[in-house]
Amino acid sequence: MKDIKSMTLSELTDYIKEQKEPAFRAAQIYKWIHQDMVEHPSQMTNVPKKLIQKIEEMGFTELTVVTRLVSKQDGTNKFLFRLQDGNVIESVFMKYKHGNSVCISSQVGCRMGCRFCASTLSGLVRNLTVSEMLEQIYSMERITGEKVSNVVVMGTGEPLDNFDNLVDFITILTSKEGRNLSQRNITVSSCGLVPEIKKLADLKLSITFALSLHGTTGEERRKLMPIANKYSIDEVIDACRYYFDRTGRRVTFEYALVKDENDSVAHAKRLADLIRGMNCHVNLIPVNPIKERDYARSEADSIEKFKYTLEKNKINVTIRRSMGSDIDAACGQLRRKYESDAAAGK
Ligand code: SF4
Repeated sequence: MKDIKSMTLSELTDYIKEQKEPAFRAAQIYKWIHQDMVEHPSQMTNVPKKLIQKIEEMGFTELTVVTRLVSKQDGTNKFLFRLQDGNVIESVFMKYKHGNSVCISSQVGCRMGCRFCASTLSGLVRNLTVSEMLEQIYSMERITGEKVSNVVVMGTGEPLDNFDNLVDFITILTSKEGRNLSQRNITVSSCGLVPEIKKLADLKLSITFALSLHGTTGEERRKLMPIANKYSIDEVIDACRYYFDRTGRRVTFEYALVKDENDSVAHAKRLADLIRGMNCHVNLIPVNPIKERDYARSEADSIEKFKYTLEKNKINVTIRRSMGSDIDAACGQLRRKYESDAAAGK
């Protein structure tokens, strides 16, 4: 059975009815969990003790902070959280002028094998539950004392590989009885699972979908991302067109710039040809080096030329600002360091 924090309001209502309790208790409990973000069931002061006891017996998902790094430059917080089964995950809290944004993980590890990514080096351990995804946001709000207005599911894991939990996570986060976040303030990123992109499109949500493209031909993508062996670049681009057609939402293409691999002007021109005519946006991400892999960050000059070439071709483009560079740790690095220290008995 699902844990109580992972239940949508209708699932919680069914559960409450099964317990022979009045249905209004479901709305009360849901509010305590998702609006008031209580840390313990005993804080639900208008819920009968007997029911609180049952909720406690079910287990109440909580995360423990293992590491918190705070940037002196821009207030970015990087967290390593311990889950109740001992696994650890990373989440990031970022302050922007337009509000606070968090980047959360959707899985422990990842099985997608992207070669520039530290999160996949030990493969997939397991999917995160709905509550473990939500708790990353709630925990960061409690700890920082700040409200989150944008959520990006782009940390460790392939969100569409944890599809059902992702959808319930979005349902709870955006329900008016719960957290009431606008779907427009949620971004979900994928490395390109074509059937799942279409399935997501068919739900007609108003979230932003971001595709990790990272190459301009099938061959380039295959070098960086094993998923490109399964789905051709044309199939992935078609799925993105389908996403726009079904939802009316502009797709974002994430393009990690790797020095001398995919960052030339010729690459930029090919990228422009590939996505020409689409209602889209390109987000350029200069990669952070990973010590286990031999990749270097693009030179500033190459990044600018790449951007300029896209702009000349009338493509919307931004360069992702590197947040918290004084606490710099590429995605997945905190978790890897923790695990290798643990293995070494430090
Ligand atoms: S980039 Fe994303 S999809 Fe690729 S291995 Fe890393 S976590 Fe998985």
